[in-house]
Amino acid sequence: MIKPALSGLPLEALQETLKPLPAYRARQVFKWLAGGVRSFDAMTNLSRALREALDARFSCYSSVISAQFPDPDGTVKLQITLQDDKRIEAVILADALQRRTACLSTQVGCPMGCVFCKTGTLGWSRNLDSAEMVEQLFHLRSIQPDIANIVIMGMGEPLMNLSELRTALGVFTDPEGLGFSKRRITLSTSGIAKGIRDLADNGPDIRLALSLTTADTRLRERLMPVTLTNPLPVVKEALRYYQHRRRRRITLEAVLLGGINTRDEDVDALVDFVKGLDAVINLISWNPVEGMTFEGRPLRQPSQGEVAGFMARLEKKQIKVTQRLRKGRSIAGACGQLG
Ligand code: SF4
Repeated sequence: MIKPALSGLPLEALQETLKPLPAYRARQVFKWLAGGVRSFDAMTNLSRALREALDARFSCYSSVISAQFPDPDGTVKLQITLQDDKRIEAVILADALQRRTACLSTQVGCPMGCVFCKTGTLGWSRNLDSAEMVEQLFHLRSIQPDIANIVIMGMGEPLMNLSELRTALGVFTDPEGLGFSKRRITLSTSGIAKGIRDLADNGPDIRLALSLTTADTRLRERLMPVTLTNPLPVVKEALRYYQHRRRRRITLEAVLLGGINTRDEDVDALVDFVKGLDAVINLISWNPVEGMTFEGRPLRQPSQGEVAGFMARLEKKQIKVTQRLRKGRSIAGACGQLG
């Protein structure tokens, strides 16, 4: 029998689920789970009889770590197996100051089919529930307790699974549990206008990134098919609405593909797209994945000169631009390599 996992429930939902137990008992369970405890037996401020009663009906977790891949640069990728034997990946990234960021997945596979992304080649299998999202962070914390930031940028399109993600974010941000500040959580979308507006209207008030890659519509339609149903002007309007409601700077991520989206036209289109937005552009060199092609030609990573030149041209036009360091490549844990 599969017992429902309690890991993904925010405090209020846990109190409701555990009724007629008094609310303070649910709070105790919530705090144990947030502290990383994985069995009711270890919850020593509950009576033995209560621990056994909980164990008969519920489980703490619904997933297990099935493989661990450390990279010498400090990145760690976990392969996590779910109750139905499906597998997902979650990653810890470390920056130059050794601040650690957890990169979490929201779906098994992904339906969006971006041509430069390994996850996109897998297709979509199903959405994750909140327990499966929360447990990724718990698993990562069991390897590295000191995690400062969360990015929702792993496998899947988060805005296609916003309801379960909201529940998981409720667990992450509860001051009685993990207590993550919303400012330390970033959601990255491929550009679902309706979802961006939903986030603007209904929160939570986390940071937003758009995986833009190129603002040249024709090229983006070929690289990211989401553009066909969510045209860039509609996405931009949604971003403006988000900024009007949330007053937060957004990040526009551009995965640079050698010889494809580093042309002058791409610079001009980006400059045009940024107008009217409070945004910073984050350049990410494409991380090689064996066998990936674009319209019959093998994809290649951009040369250092290509990236530097692209950045310089944007800066010359007074655009705020940063560059993401390459991390986790040896373990296929870098952006676009999960799967
Ligand atoms: S880049 Fe993101 S949205 Fe696109 S296929 Fe990969 S996981 Fe899906």
